[in-house]
Amino acid sequence: MINRLHKKIKIMSTIDDEIIQQEYQALLEEYKKSGHRLDFEIVDKAFNFAYNAHKGARRRSGEPYMMHPLAVARIVVKEVGLGTTSVCSALLHDVVEDTDYTVEDIKNLFGARIASIVDGLTKISGGVFGEHASKQAENFRKLLLSISEDIRVIMIKIADRLHNMRTLASMPVAKQYKIAGETLYIYAPFAYRLGLFRIKTELEDLSFKYEHPEIFKNLSEKLDQGEVAREDIYSKFIAPVEEKLHSMGYEFYIEKRIKTIYSIWHKMKVKNIPFEEVFDLLAVRIIFKERKDISEKDQSWLIYSSITSLYRPHPERLRDWISAPKANGYEALHLTVMGPNGQWVEVQIRSERMHEIAEKGLSAHWKYKTGDNTPETELDNWLKTIKELLDNAEPTNAVDFIDTFKLNLFTNEIFVFTPKGEIKTLPSGATTLDFAFSLHSDLGMQCIGAKVNHKLVPLSHELTSGDQVEILTSKKQKPQQEWLNFVTTARAKAGLKSALRKETKIVINKGKEIAEKKFEEIKLPLDNQNLQALLGYFKIVDKNELFYEIGKEIINLDDIEKKIFKQNTSTRWFNYWKLQLGLAKKPDLLLTEGSEDASKKEENKETAVKIDRKKTLVIDDTCTDIKYTIAPCCKPIPGDEVLGYVNNNESVTIHKRECIVAEKLKANHGESIVPVEWGSRKILSFPAVIEVKGIDAQGVLLQIIEVVSKGCAINIQKISIETKDGIFEGTFHVFVHNTEDVNNLISNVLKIKAVNSVSRIEENL
Ligand code: MN
Repeated sequence: MINRLHKKIKIMSTIDDEIIQQEYQALLEEYKKSGHRLDFEIVDKAFNFAYNAHKGARRRSGEPYMMHPLAVARIVVKEVGLGTTSVCSALLHDVVEDTDYTVEDIKNLFGARIASIVDGLTKISGGVFGEHASKQAENFRKLLLSISEDIRVIMIKIADRLHNMRTLASMPVAKQYKIAGETLYIYAPFAYRLGLFRIKTELEDLSFKYEHPEIFKNLSEKLDQGEVAREDIYSKFIAPVEEKLHSMGYEFYIEKRIKTIYSIWHKMKVKNIPFEEVFDLLAVRIIFKERKDISEKDQSWLIYSSITSLYRPHPERLRDWISAPKANGYEALHLTVMGPNGQWVEVQIRSERMHEIAEKGLSAHWKYKTGDNTPETELDNWLKTIKELLDNAEPTNAVDFIDTFKLNLFTNEIFVFTPKGEIKTLPSGATTLDFAFSLHSDLGMQCIGAKVNHKLVPLSHELTSGDQVEILTSKKQKPQQEWLNFVTTARAKAGLKSALRKETKIVINKGKEIAEKKFEEIKLPLDNQNLQALLGYFKIVDKNELFYEIGKEIINLDDIEKKIFKQNTSTRWFNYWKLQLGLAKKPDLLLTEGSEDASKKEENKETAVKIDRKKTLVIDDTCTDIKYTIAPCCKPIPGDEVLGYVNNNESVTIHKRECIVAEKLKANHGESIVPVEWGSRKILSFPAVIEVKGIDAQGVLLQIIEVVSKGCAINIQKISIETKDGIFEGTFHVFVHNTEDVNNLISNVLKIKAVNSVSRIEENL
């Protein structure tokens, strides 16, 4: 018996060893091809060490644990384009976290560099988002710190996350939400920022697949249906292009591209259009070998010219990222042309060098950076910004900190010019003040306004691409609290906050001096007892607050000897102080959820039933013991894909899965997210808002109202209609049972001739 068991274990471990060896050989193959300086000895050593450390451990999917670090190492070398140090670090990345070995052990065996990367990876291994906001800030700081120490940490972390996303199916549903949410919220933007486009796209698509499985399936089917027609268009489109480019003596290849499901869905949502109207579904990429006789830029434009002589270009869809590369280093020429079947086709033109940068981002970018006199790129600037942000950040305000930083990770970029014609890249939404800070923090602090395209504008003026901006300063200017309302870049925010803190300190000292003088005058000591009397009188809790108000001349000490023991009931000053320091700042959505809970908690204490986070919650008229509310932000109705957020009092708020608020909750409070499904029994009516647009023909409104009110399952709550220049726009607030009602309603209203479009909208008033 024992013998048989022994044998079985032995066979299993032989099988394990076989697949591990296979995966290791595959890794070595990629490593050989990588073009990096090779050191098989140390890679072997890292492999064997990790192999023994993880021996016997398994992943949730059942495969040996070692398969994970091996897969991550393969992604690191093949898809991220990193070399020996990173491959070893990837192989070792979970050893400290999951086994008894320490960073010290790694250091002794593999040296300080690898040990510090593994240390960085271990510190952020729990994911960025913990259970509490303070924990999040802490984790996020760690992440940023590790980036500023060695950028390879985040690149390996992204590889780690990519493999976890590829194998996410074996995780329980609630965990899937959390991981997918965090990926979309933080890792995909990071990948984008580092120029890892392909990985960013895959991360988004995978997150989407797990967050919206139904929509994902539906859209993939639609894409599959068009497959044959697309192939036909491609071959018709490409043939003449190939002929032309060959005749011009180019070496090149053409990649056929199809928009990812996530980006199709994103576009449908943003533009509020059906699948059929997403018009740049098709794209081709022309990657040419650089010729010695012409510059890459000229070659790109020559190719552009030959394509537009074959196909008509869309006048508004030309993007030149060669003259002004994106902040993450991306270069290419994009255009959209009308294809042979009247379909729009996007064409991306890149040299092989540009292509490698586009695929592998930062690592390729460094490869092409030669010598020390290469000008600093936007990427180098970005790393600098991270360091500045870390130096200036307050550790207390977690959510704010992450949001500020996140804002600077992705968003679209605009290009603006200095008066000398230098190009600066800023996130869209940036103001003149952001621009001033981007040039120099002193310019920001002393900025009084700007000239944009030679016209005078205020600090808060929002810039657009192509603006030429001249900053106006004055030595007398001082940074103001309100400025925080209209800066968006991390650099400006951090700089401003630290300046304001310094300013506060100066005012506090000034106030203290005034108080000391006054007490000398009235011959009383400024001791604890008298200070307490003052604080009590002015209803202030903290002595620094008191001194601040004295320094700001909000509080006047002139008559204190007469008044000091009288009561003053006004708390106005206190509030004013809070505003000054931003303490009473309007909390963001996350905090609102929390604070509302706190007040509700008291009332509901007794009735709360503990909700099982692991079970899917089914909402219908039979669930009377569970308290749930429909989220006011996205107003989901049965049929929508939803999830639940368990509040502190064990009540559940139901959000649409695509809701922005839900997205945030998922990323920040993943452990409070429960899967929710709608039950089959019809419950209560749900509010929905339908928007109708069309031509204002006679009687059309009457027809619409007739159709809407005829829908048997529907109640009209409110109708509002506006007409202007022969066009009408109306919204109908109705009560429905589910999405089926809404879809029926939409298709019925669409049958009316004069109606152009009908859609369900989210209206937040
Ligand atoms: Mn891992």
